[in-house]
Amino acid sequence: MACPMVLPAQEKPENPFISPFDFPLLLSGNFGELRANHFHGGVDFKTQGVVGKPIRCIDDGYISRVTVTPGGYGQAVYITHHNGLTSVHGHLHKFMDAVEKVVEAYQYEHETFAVDLTFDADKFPLKQGEVFALAGNEGYSFGPHLHMELRRTDTGEYIDPLQFYTDKVKDTTAPRATHVMLYPQAGEGVVNGSSRKKIIAFANQPNPAEAWGKIAVGIKAYDYMDGTSNNYGVRSVKLFVDSVEVFSSTVDGFLPDENRMINAWTDYEEYATKSSWFMRSQILPGNTWRMLKANDEGGVVTINEERPYVFRYELEDLYGNRRSYRFIIKGKQQPIEPLQKGRHYLKWNQGNVVQQPGMELIIPKGMLYEDVNLNCRVIADSLNISYDYQLHDVPVPLHSGCPLVIGVRNYPVTDMSKYYVVRKHKGRKASAGGYFEEGFMHTTIRELGTYSVSIDTIAPRIVPLNKPQWKTGNIQFKIRDAETGIKDYKVYIDGEFVLFKFSSKNAKLTCVHPKRIKKGVLHRMEVVITDYCGNIAKEEFQF
Ligand SMILES: [Zn+2]
Repeated sequence: MACPMVLPAQEKPENPFISPFDFPLLLSGNFGELRANHFHGGVDFKTQGVVGKPIRCIDDGYISRVTVTPGGYGQAVYITHHNGLTSVHGHLHKFMDAVEKVVEAYQYEHETFAVDLTFDADKFPLKQGEVFALAGNEGYSFGPHLHMELRRTDTGEYIDPLQFYTDKVKDTTAPRATHVMLYPQAGEGVVNGSSRKKIIAFANQPNPAEAWGKIAVGIKAYDYMDGTSNNYGVRSVKLFVDSVEVFSSTVDGFLPDENRMINAWTDYEEYATKSSWFMRSQILPGNTWRMLKANDEGGVVTINEERPYVFRYELEDLYGNRRSYRFIIKGKQQPIEPLQKGRHYLKWNQGNVVQQPGMELIIPKGMLYEDVNLNCRVIADSLNISYDYQLHDVPVPLHSGCPLVIGVRNYPVTDMSKYYVVRKHKGRKASAGGYFEEGFMHTTIRELGTYSVSIDTIAPRIVPLNKPQWKTGNIQFKIRDAETGIKDYKVYIDGEFVLFKFSSKNAKLTCVHPKRIKKGVLHRMEVVITDYCGNIAKEEFQF
């Protein structure tokens, strides 16, 4: 079947797009790679290990949006093209001069580093081949590269840019898999006498697993390309049982609202607890991502005969490089543990309310991908600010923020702006934000786990770096906040706002325009950092 996101040959008489670079293209990341709560929305082009490579506009169009953020894309340019697609370019080192001027003027006028500006078609028109920025390593980037996306201008759908560059990027290497996971369906299936999921390594296949009833499977696999040591996401996965196709996935497009469906398709628990990615060959009932196809059972296989069942995976990349993996599951009658539904059994296709003394969680319809047999309990300690609420004993993703309310029992400080909802996960505390109202903390959460209330009364820390160089304008700090995180920062030199960039990946604050700082005179600098509970660190320096 033709894939809807790849243009058919007759509609692609010639490639509309040129290469953004004048050197050979290599990828450090491909479209649809599995990331935390999202698919990688574009391709990462290597820039020969350096920042500052000029980026050419891939087709006529105009700059429609420019953003600057401490994390994420760092500095990004959106170009709207005339063919219905918008290209997005992230982690940029520098914008073209005319754009740089507008961005800087905005930053100084509003005393802010973060920028999100949109422009009409006549402000910055671009011709194919025109250089509009230099590639960099800004934002959440850990090595120089250009992150480039193609989105449909009308719907915002992300599509695979590599389909326009297959003649410029060589790939003869097929994907490779390492493990499969077997998922007995709750109350309906069993594997080797157990209702728990079971991992099997391809390299070291033991005796075939013995199963009975309904099971689903998943696979751990990566793609590879010629001339790099990186690994990539697998574009196409097909599962056959006794030569009949039961499931297929094709990662070549997703709408913004489908991005979090990655949590329904992958084994979320494996990722959240072991940072290990399994692609499940099962469409959970609440998963509406269009790129999955399955049998009537959503990919679930029924083992009801005492015989070997032949499972075969077929993995394929955009270039048609393909590799198959075969394994046997032996049908063997064995007792299936019935599902014991608890007091809080959540149905995926309706709204749910979970209540405990002093706590309420509302899960609107559409937030769960499957039923959840909640293991919910209250962990009480009368001295604590609130009880700890275990909403569930394994992490479960919610499609969007769900309202959670927790009662405050003890008030160690009277300033209620210092209270926040805390998530307790893997022995660590993470802020889940929130606000106080009439005895309760209110927030929204996107994952089931253990939550409580905590206070943040400690201001961020400011650590000056490279002080001897400050006179040259090379001024740097490390700024950190232990609990709720840094919300805002300002730096004033001799009473005037000076632009500093904050990089969330290394917590560094760096002066952006060293040349604006007068040489040979004594300066007074004030640094003000605010966290999400309104704790302010204020320090003065002279240099
Ligand atoms: Zn990227």
